[in-house]
Amino acid sequence: MRNLQKHGIGVMGGTFDPIHYGHLYIAESSRCRFNLGKILFMPSGNPVHKKRNDITDHVHRLEMTRLAIAKNPYFALSTLEVDRPGPTYTVDTLEYLKNDCSGTARLFFITGADAILDILTWKDVPRIFELCRFIAVTRPGFSFRALNEMLADLTEEQRKKIHLHETGGILVSSTEIRRRISRGEPVKYLLPDSVEKYIEKQGLYRHPDDSCLSLK
Ligand code: NAP
Repeated sequence: MRNLQKHGIGVMGGTFDPIHYGHLYIAESSRCRFNLGKILFMPSGNPVHKKRNDITDHVHRLEMTRLAIAKNPYFALSTLEVDRPGPTYTVDTLEYLKNDCSGTARLFFITGADAILDILTWKDVPRIFELCRFIAVTRPGFSFRALNEMLADLTEEQRKKIHLHETGGILVSSTEIRRRISRGEPVKYLLPDSVEKYIEKQGLYRHPDDSCLSLK
C-alpha cells in the first residue's frame, strides 16, 4: 500500500443492490480525475439509516460486486462493513482504513451526492471530515439548491473537502434495475453480463408472483 500514499485511495461506499455500470464508470472516472491508486468497493453491511427493509443479503451483494470488478486491476472488494457486527457507520470504516491499511494515504469517500445531502445526520461528522475527502457524484436531476443549503451548514474547511463529480449522462440506477427485473424487462447493457447471470441464477429481485419471468 506504500505507493498509495502519494495517490490516495477511493472508497466506493454504497448498498450495491445490485452493482451496475454506473457505479463502475463513476469509480473509474473518479480514479482518473483524482489520481487515485486504488478503489475499494465497500458494500454497506447493516445500514441503519435505510428505509427499505428488503435489502438483498450481503452474501449476494458481495458476490455481485466481486464479479463486476474482477477485470479492473485498480479495483478491490472490501468486506469490512459486512464483516463488522452492528450498524454500519462510515466513521468507523474510515478510522479502520486510516489506522490499518492506508497509513498516511489520503482517503476519498465516493458516493452519490444524494447521500451527501444527509451527511449532517451521519455519526461523528467532524471526525469524518478529518479522515477523508468526499467525491459526491451527481446525476441528471440532482438538486444543487438542496446541496447549497446543506453546504451552508458546514464549516469552510469541510466545504473544501467535498468535490462534486458530475456524470451527466448516467441514468442507470439500482432501483430501476430492480424494478425492471421484477417486471421481466431486459437489463442487458445496464450491468456486467456476469452480474446479470448471477442474478438470474439466484433468482434475485423477482417478485414472488413473477417467478416464471425471465431476464432475457
Ligand atoms: P445507496 O442507497 O446505495 O445510494 C444512495 C444514492 O447514491 C443512490 O442514488 C445510489 O444509486 C447512489 N450511489 C450509491 N453508491 C454510489 C457510489 N459509490 N457512487 C455514486 N453513486 C452512488 O447508499 P446510502 O445508503 O445512501 O449510503 C451511501 C454511503 O454512505 C454508504 O457507504 C453508507 O454506509 C454511507 N452512509 C453512512 C451513514 C453513517 O455513517 N451514519 C449514513 C448514511 C450513509 P444506486 O441506487 O444506483 O446505487
